[in-house]
Amino acid sequence: MREFKIAAIPADGIGKEVVAAGLEVLDVLAKRDGGFRLNIETFDWGSDYYKKHGTMMPENGRETLKQFDAIYFGAVGAPDVPDHVTLWGLRLNICQPFDQYANVRPTRILPGIKSPLAGVGPRLLNWVIVRENSEGEYAGQGGRSHRGFPEEVATEVAIFTRAGVTRIMRFAFKLAQSRPRKLLTVVTKSNAQRHGMVMWDEIAAEVAGEFPDVTWDKMLVDAMTMRMTLKPETLDTIVATNLHADILSDLAAALAGSLGIAPTANLNPERKFPSMFEPIHGSAFDITGKGIANPIGTFWTACMMLDHLGETAASARLMRAIERVTANPLLHTPDLGGKATTRIVTDAVIAAIEADN
Ligand code: ATP
Ligand code: MG
Repeated sequence: MREFKIAAIPADGIGKEVVAAGLEVLDVLAKRDGGFRLNIETFDWGSDYYKKHGTMMPENGRETLKQFDAIYFGAVGAPDVPDHVTLWGLRLNICQPFDQYANVRPTRILPGIKSPLAGVGPRLLNWVIVRENSEGEYAGQGGRSHRGFPEEVATEVAIFTRAGVTRIMRFAFKLAQSRPRKLLTVVTKSNAQRHGMVMWDEIAAEVAGEFPDVTWDKMLVDAMTMRMTLKPETLDTIVATNLHADILSDLAAALAGSLGIAPTANLNPERKFPSMFEPIHGSAFDITGKGIANPIGTFWTACMMLDHLGETAASARLMRAIERVTANPLLHTPDLGGKATTRIVTDAVIAAIEADN
């Protein structure tokens, strides 16, 4: 019996609802498979924890997490706690020290889901976006002087290191190589940003030399938004900086039908530390407690986690169950224009897992 230790951190808002649903599904999946066991421990970290203790997670939280094989994460953010506290206090407090430098976001249109792009279905839109997750524009460097005075200046410095750019390029080329089309688009802004982005381009070209079987091209981020919208079929694997990929992946999620469907993995590819798996949506307090959050993104996230753990058969089974459910409009939550609840969708996915052979 293969055994894995999973840390579940549902955190805030609908994160609690969709992770609870995800854990139910994982439990059924492991029993159905019979070959592996998931030992799941759930942590109550997040904004409620912050209101009691003044921190989003305990001081020794990371030491605790180190003993796990993977982290299954919900969402952070609460209306009465500042965003930078919730984000830096929990999510980034795990991502950065655990060196989860590759953020991977598969994007495709699932059966039964309508893209806002007329006539675009799964055959024309099947991407995976790789986001540099450890440096760049979100390095947190900079400052403010003359605060509040008319001469106030604020700087926000993007940091690109040769080591950081090289490792994300290698990761992206390798991922592109593993996909049928072996096609990579490197997103850049080197026409306007003359230092970091120029080095980014140079390193892309260097690393490309190690992957002669991968076809690659370079695209300015502004033009990229048009290409994603007008010629989605020309794209496959995409690599971009922290900021650029943050923006492009919201566009990608919208083009694929709903934010509620999209999954992501924060990977430490060397496996020195646990990797973290989460839906890309936030805590969505506007629908929290209503029982209508779409759990599909969190289920797809579980597929990525199972793949990472090497349980590819179970992952494929879960993906088949997800696709059987999305194909039926009666099982769509309100974000997809339907009337189904989190409960109904979860039960349907469980039934589809049990019926799968
Ligand atoms: P963040 O600040 O982390 O981006 P947020 O709460 O501002 O979070 P999101 O949670 O990303 O924003 O959600 C944006 C919108 O999409 C909200 O109106 C929300 O209701 C909707 N939404 C997001 N996730 C889901 C989901 N899983 N199911 C249904 N609707 C969702
Ligand atoms: Mg948001």
